Amino acid sequence: MSTHPVKIAVVTGANRGMGFEIARQLADNGVRVVLAGRNREAVVEAAKKLRGSDLDVEALVLDVTKTDSISAAAAEIESRYGRLDILVNNAGIRIEEYGKQPSEQPLRQWHETFDTNLFGLVETTLAFLPLIRKSTAGRIVNVSSLLGSLGTHSDPSSYAYSPMFKSLPAYSASKSAVNSWTVHLAYELRETPIKVNAVHPGYTKTEMNEGAGDLEIPDGARTSVSMALLESDGPSGSYVHMGDVVPW
Ligand code: NAP
Repeated sequence: MSTHPVKIAVVTGANRGMGFEIARQLADNGVRVVLAGRNREAVVEAAKKLRGSDLDVEALVLDVTKTDSISAAAAEIESRYGRLDILVNNAGIRIEEYGKQPSEQPLRQWHETFDTNLFGLVETTLAFLPLIRKSTAGRIVNVSSLLGSLGTHSDPSSYAYSPMFKSLPAYSASKSAVNSWTVHLAYELRETPIKVNAVHPGYTKTEMNEGAGDLEIPDGARTSVSMALLESDGPSGSYVHMGDVVPW
């Protein structure tokens, strides 16, 4: 019998898409996973589905754009477990329309996108950080995107150098900002056991892409899962996809 306590993970946006699959794969690896989602019914249903496969999961209501919801979720984890080992910041939105010029995307979409993808992620992380500091091996995984890579965006040989992927300026900038936050927080925590990394999951067939993509959802979840389960000699402040470093 293992003497190690079971690791506790929170995955945001876990009611569907890659978040749901990240939760499944972490639970398959023996982690107790708390599926967090903004819609109670959807997240309870998602947790029920995984429990039906004998996986050790629970549901938690968490809307990353609402301060009250974030603090209630952190308080709930504190009272259930007193600590948090893994936080996967997966919740995200892509509301811009493909095919428009960057200058044609309305400013309100910048606000909405940043509220979820950046401010929601930062606020959620800050709320859980005191609990992650209580873990012996805290891991924070920020689900970014290749579209957050300025190096890739400005490389004419990259597939991001195309009208389709240049039509999401707010989404792309929100992920670049997530990358920057990742580097800053990793620096602050460099003398602690906590590792903070950004991942590009891969272009994956989820609702966000209306089913388009190169990867099936289980493969899209793999990079986040591997960074959530990093050993103590793993990197911090990195930006990776399937084990390879992605250019900032
Ligand atoms: P998805 O199927 O659209 O799922 C997005 C998830 O985020 C849903 O569970 C959604 O919940 C949740 N969410 C949205 N706003 C939220 C909020 N305010 N509070 C809490 N949860 C919220 O998308 P996905 O493709 O799985 O994307 C997961 C992550 O991967 C995102 O960060 C995305 O940017 C990133 N990503 C995706 C791809 C790709 O090709 N799919 C590529 C690179 C990066 P509801 O059901 O309540 O809406």
